[in-house]
Amino acid sequence: ILLISKRIQDIQLSSTLAATQKTRELKAEGRDIISLTVGEPDFDTPKYILDAANKAIYEGKGHHYTDSAGIAELRQAIADFHQKHDFVSYEMDEIFVSAGAKLILYYLFQALVDEGDEVLIPIPYWVSYSEQIRLAGGVPVFIETDPENGFALTEELLDRYTSDKTKLLVLNSPSNPSGAVFNEEQLRIIGDYCVRKNILIIADEIYYKLVFNGAKSQSIASLSEEIRQQSIIVNGMSKAFAMTGWRIGYALGSKKVMQAINKIASQTSGNAAGISQYAALAALTEGSDFMEENRKLFETRLNAAYPLVKDLPGFKLYEKPMGAFYLFPECSEAAKMTGYDTVDAFTMALLEEAHVGLVAGSGFGMPKHIRFSYATSTEEFAEGVQRIKTFMEKHR
Ligand code: PLP
Repeated sequence: ILLISKRIQDIQLSSTLAATQKTRELKAEGRDIISLTVGEPDFDTPKYILDAANKAIYEGKGHHYTDSAGIAELRQAIADFHQKHDFVSYEMDEIFVSAGAKLILYYLFQALVDEGDEVLIPIPYWVSYSEQIRLAGGVPVFIETDPENGFALTEELLDRYTSDKTKLLVLNSPSNPSGAVFNEEQLRIIGDYCVRKNILIIADEIYYKLVFNGAKSQSIASLSEEIRQQSIIVNGMSKAFAMTGWRIGYALGSKKVMQAINKIASQTSGNAAGISQYAALAALTEGSDFMEENRKLFETRLNAAYPLVKDLPGFKLYEKPMGAFYLFPECSEAAKMTGYDTVDAFTMALLEEAHVGLVAGSGFGMPKHIRFSYATSTEEFAEGVQRIKTFMEKHR
């Protein structure tokens, strides 16, 4: 008998997790692999957060079930943080904390998408959006953007892909995998368009504090009250505070939507881990320098990594990205030069032969591209690029 449901058979395993796992396995076998696959800071959670979590544990905090929306102190701290950084106010019942932004997104699509509803997703997109939307019975509608134009999402493009079935737009700025950051004018055009057409914006702003070389960190909700009401903001602790393993993400927006996701959480995950919630509370309320130090570190790494990849034969990089921690060159030429028909096969060869782990662009909707993560030391990144160069020279 066939055990696995059709619904699950029809979705893909996360390609970023699969690539990370494969590199981990090879490393465990003792192979000397440089992994540029990871979507997380390469260092431990800052000490002030560990100390606070430790203290909370021994004070008996976080040992029990909490509200499924998260403890009140944490929701208040999230409200204060966004008030301070974005000048936007959220009430306590407009905030929902759960086990990571990924789960929050899943809840949102479950709560908002009916069978056959269309959801706009600009390409390239983070691997999980399309699969989560399919799981909810929705139809992902992919918007082809132009890499030469900074992957911009213009009104003309939005118009071309919007239909009377369009319900949501997923926006991810700064973007994983392209690193593109929309500026205020671009965000305003998108926001105003969605207000006019009554399309709800799911704004995944998980990288919004990781912007570089003068780019502005900005929440779309800060642009106008109408846009704020038309948007659900998704954010979390993972990237800005190096807390991926603690699993704390959250949504900000309409009380009605928060009540809907509360229904799902109440029947599934319950609350996010209590101790992690106390750690997140400390992250947001203490140690105010960490976020800026973290940002500067990634800025230095970007500035070192970009010219190295730009110089690789057959790899085409566009303008220097301004956010997140990825580079996303087109590399079908490099694949061809070394005898591979597809970038997927080329990516596999780089791992198995050159011992450099990267993620193929196919999972992000751009199969001619490849993703480098520079969430690793500059030396390690440079060594990875050198190995690719040697591989290219050997096979040309
Ligand atoms: N959204 C984007 C664009 C991401 O890159 C990631 C993590 O890789 C997430 C959401 C998920 O973050 P979390 O760790 O909060 O689940």
